Amino acid sequence: MPTESIHPETLVLHAGTYRADPATTAVAVPIYQTTSYQFHSTEHAANLFALKELGNVYTRIMNPTQAVLEERVAALEGGVAALALASGQSASLFAVQNICHAGDNFVCSTDIYGGTWNLFQNTLATMGIECRFVDPADPENFRRASDFKTRCYYGETLPNPKLAVFPIAEVSKIGREYGIPLIMDNTACPVLCQPIKHGAAITMHSTTKYIGGHGTSIGGVIVDGGNFDWEKNADRFPMLNKPDPSYHGAIWTQAVKPLGPIAYILKARVTLLRDVGAAMSPFNAFMFIQGLETLPLRIRQHCSNANAVAAYLSKHPKITRVIFPGLMEGNAKLRADTYLRGGYGGLLGFELKGGRDSGRKFIDALKMFYHVANIGDARSLAIHPASTTHSQLTPEEQLKTGVTEGYVRLSIGIEHQEDIIADLDQALAIA
Ligand SMILES: *Cc1c(COP(=O)(O)O)cnc(C)c1O
Repeated sequence: MPTESIHPETLVLHAGTYRADPATTAVAVPIYQTTSYQFHSTEHAANLFALKELGNVYTRIMNPTQAVLEERVAALEGGVAALALASGQSASLFAVQNICHAGDNFVCSTDIYGGTWNLFQNTLATMGIECRFVDPADPENFRRASDFKTRCYYGETLPNPKLAVFPIAEVSKIGREYGIPLIMDNTACPVLCQPIKHGAAITMHSTTKYIGGHGTSIGGVIVDGGNFDWEKNADRFPMLNKPDPSYHGAIWTQAVKPLGPIAYILKARVTLLRDVGAAMSPFNAFMFIQGLETLPLRIRQHCSNANAVAAYLSKHPKITRVIFPGLMEGNAKLRADTYLRGGYGGLLGFELKGGRDSGRKFIDALKMFYHVANIGDARSLAIHPASTTHSQLTPEEQLKTGVTEGYVRLSIGIEHQEDIIADLDQALAIA
């Protein structure tokens, strides 16, 4: 099915090669709960291992249920192929590690998820990969931090808690001058933004959040935009352009030629996923396929509810500041309107006059909102980041990511907006 002119609502149900199960004609995607796959012959087996033919070998590396999810997410994001993984964290790790090794560096936005910050700042450092954090408010900061060992740029489309939309086209344009690809974490705004259309080379999602949508499963996915010339910048990407000793000397940009512009994502699958084993279970892949089918519908409801909540909070006397893309000014508002289409997402933050104490009282007084470390659930969620999601960061690091003592983050669900506002209203009366 050609995906260019087809709308997201349709793509999430129909994109890709799956129409019905070839063995049974079942319409719902089966959970192929198997580790291995019968080879037709010794020649077939040899071809699969040599990547002369693509096909199923072992579920650590690929699985038919995962494959349906991968094709649909790739289509939704406007990319050419995807790789499903065990978590968003493994997706962030693989996205960078696929092109960076010891001695290399990459430049990353300071406005990112706390878990990503730790992974990049601390764990990757132990592997000899240097993450250079820069403030994305000025895209030129990415240029200033780059050198000949810089392998990629990394940003988050709609990063919480600041909720200042990342300058995707601006940074990807700077990167392309030097042959540096932009990797975007698009977790917080699927459907609303397709970073690949704005020049990003790679996107990733924690499918745990909006794609799953029901808070049931942990997963991640990386999408290859197929729009970056890894060969033209061969010196920057030895891992894609020099013989790979872990795969009988394959040169990935050459090996994939007959299969399309998928060198990056194929290498991630057949080397990193093969070696590290962060595979998504077939059951979780099935859960994400269910979530994906209603994603555009839910996103609409998340957005319209969040708009209503933002309007309510901005008039409340106990609140000093509401952080919401739709209420921003200047460059931040311009970026929100350029990159988010159809709504400003379901995330929202605010600061209470009463600071930390008030924030805690508010959270404890909520009756319908869940108090959890998650976003993107169908249910409304609230959290106090300074004492939870961002608590492993130093106070200076917390401030850099936009977390203040009195900040409360809301992930607005798909309940009726009057019920959401009623719960906020009674909790604010107590705060
Ligand atoms: C949750 C999250 C992650 C990490 O995903 P997990 O599935 O929890 O491993 C990465 N990026 C963002 C923006 C997230 O919200």
